[in-house]
Amino acid sequence: MRYRVLRPPYLYRWAVLLSVLVVAVAAMVSAFSSAEGTPTAVPAPAAAPVTATTTPPEPADLVRGTAHAGKFVALTFDDGPDPVYTPQILDALTRAGAVATFCMVGTNVTRYPELVRTVLARGMRLCDHTVSHDEQLSKRSEQRITAEISGAWSDLQVAAGADVPVPYFRAPGGAWSALMRDVAARQGMKSLSWSVDSRDWTQPGAAQIVATVQRTIQPGAVVLLHDGGGKRTQTVEALNQLLPWLSAQGYRFDFPA
Ligand SMILES: [Zn+2]
Repeated sequence: MRYRVLRPPYLYRWAVLLSVLVVAVAAMVSAFSSAEGTPTAVPAPAAAPVTATTTPPEPADLVRGTAHAGKFVALTFDDGPDPVYTPQILDALTRAGAVATFCMVGTNVTRYPELVRTVLARGMRLCDHTVSHDEQLSKRSEQRITAEISGAWSDLQVAAGADVPVPYFRAPGGAWSALMRDVAARQGMKSLSWSVDSRDWTQPGAAQIVATVQRTIQPGAVVLLHDGGGKRTQTVEALNQLLPWLSAQGYRFDFPA
């Protein structure tokens, strides 16, 4: 009789104890996963919600100058990485003791992830240049814009095999919109423009590329060049002339800011 009377409370206590334990474990698991998941989840395409209109950041001004004041220049190379030209450009930069920023296209990043790691190992900086280099991106939906920008950011992380800084975003073809700058800012990237267009993408010949840069360069310039998106022999040749010329002029190499 006593045994039967006592039994229900014991059962009850066990049930309470068990549920407390379950709640505690669940709380620990959720705390752990949110603590660990936040840094990677925020920049992931799915976690950069299109509806995040609560506090839209101010459209960041386009960056078209160097981080340091004085006789500095920031070289930028777009549309790579490219298995032929990116290594040649890296070698030229390393020989000159120069740094540069590489605005990479996601599809190339996925194809040549080892080049992303090489670019980083040489002390260069990464710039997000969207997944597919759609020059009409500013006219697309916010969802599409977010997918293109966040997607390339993720491609760079995967290729690098680590959490790597991607300080800049550059719109394909320089076709900007306020929304694109907002999406990039949400991802922690500054919108990177240029102040000197080498026009190497028109393939006017190495001498012409050199002349254009020499004519338009000034302290604090951000120079647009290309290591991908086509044949870049002229760019490599021009760079091999421009790097010693810039040094002789007293220019030092910097990153944009
Ligand atoms: Zn481009």
